[in-house]
Amino acid sequence: MSLYKKSGAELSKMLRRKECSSVEICKSILQRIDFIENKTNAYITICNDILQQAEKVDNKLSAGEELHPLAGIPIALKDNISTKGIRTTCASKMLKDYIPPYDAYVTTKLKNAGVIITGKLNMDEFAMGSSTETSFFGKTSNPYNKDFVPGGSSGGCAAAVVSGEAIMSLGSDTGGSVRQPAAFCGAVGLKPTYGSVSRYGLIAFASSLDQIGPICRDVKDTAMLYSLICGHDKMDATSAFREYTDFGSHLYNNVHGLRIGVPCEYFGNEIDDEVKESVIQAINLFKKYGADIKSISLPNTKYAVNAYYIISSAEASSNLARYDGVRFGYRSEEYESLSDMYAKTRSKGFGREVKYRIMLGTFALCSGYYDEYYQKAINIRNAIRNEFIQCFTECDVIITPTYPSTAFRAYKHKNNVTKLYTNDFCTVPASLAGIPAISVPCGYSSEGLPIGMQIMGNHFSEELLLNTAYTYETLSGGLKNERI
Ligand code: GLN
Repeated sequence: MSLYKKSGAELSKMLRRKECSSVEICKSILQRIDFIENKTNAYITICNDILQQAEKVDNKLSAGEELHPLAGIPIALKDNISTKGIRTTCASKMLKDYIPPYDAYVTTKLKNAGVIITGKLNMDEFAMGSSTETSFFGKTSNPYNKDFVPGGSSGGCAAAVVSGEAIMSLGSDTGGSVRQPAAFCGAVGLKPTYGSVSRYGLIAFASSLDQIGPICRDVKDTAMLYSLICGHDKMDATSAFREYTDFGSHLYNNVHGLRIGVPCEYFGNEIDDEVKESVIQAINLFKKYGADIKSISLPNTKYAVNAYYIISSAEASSNLARYDGVRFGYRSEEYESLSDMYAKTRSKGFGREVKYRIMLGTFALCSGYYDEYYQKAINIRNAIRNEFIQCFTECDVIITPTYPSTAFRAYKHKNNVTKLYTNDFCTVPASLAGIPAISVPCGYSSEGLPIGMQIMGNHFSEELLLNTAYTYETLSGGLKNERI
């Protein structure tokens, strides 16, 4: 029996029925890592105490202790989520030897629940990118075809979960980095409402957009993991004061009367025909089961990418100023003066894309250009947010493709990053508005690569999004993952 193939929910039941132990699950994951990691390169760091962690949980279960449903389940984290005593690199030379002295809020939550932390997953450097090619630790491959990218920036998460190197994972999404890799690898990825998951200990890229979110193999696992990590945290000033339900145990399978908005701006010529067809087929399935489909328009969508890249780069330029060779991480070996040390440390410690964004952000924040770029981007952000809120008076959810294409070949966009930026137009609007969005697999391309459908909802409508996604998954039978 290959335990690594099972979902977290299935394994949780098996553990409680004593049909397997956490040590057995972890051994199966470790064997899988041994077998496939040299093809995927999903991990940056693999923990060396996985079996010890599992043994502790097994002992508690045998002693009859009441544990969290995810106790004993192997989960891996994107390498920008702080883990006390475990190297956390952001896939950058700058932090290649950085060992955090504290745990992120979500890490503490996982540890308290008795989850097994298997390791830290590859990503684009400082979460800037859509392909997991900019990592200092080499690129990650798509589990469906190693010549294709897994998406990004949480590409390691999607690849690890789909190839069986972890049962579940946590990534981070600033402008699509949970949803797009999930779509490229045939996984489910949820970007929660801004403020519902604490960012404490998440190494910042763009603080007003960053959110941690689960990437799992199915909707039920996604709901269970989200339930564990959401909640108020006094250590994050943007954390919302709210009570949350147990999302994993309330999933229902019904879209009767659900008002689904289909915005024309997300179905134009930029979207590959195969992607469009799959998403439309999924919408038709909802219609068949009683959903009310409405054509809508979100005209500010066309400004979203520009606003996103100005705002995220501006915030990154400020957040990444702390890497100066003094307080954190790498310092250049040779330098002549203090300012020379700063310059050499930052030139050598950061990769090309990160430096590019720092320059873009610094420029956008220059006093002479502030009104022309940053302020304008903030105005657009408000307009996009208001447009969504208005739209949710008429619709319950909005359905779009997650990305205009399926996974692309590695290095395809190497010399044209702006093309890669424009392709983010389906995912960045939800990030700018702070609303939740989930990507669910909805078919394959003729090349055999997965296609993702995005479901967006109003602030704090995760329950509705998860139920809509769950209904689709149940009706369509889910994707049968054929992994490399
Ligand atoms: N592709 C987007 C970017 O490069 C999204 C990144 C993210 O969500 N972390 O900024």
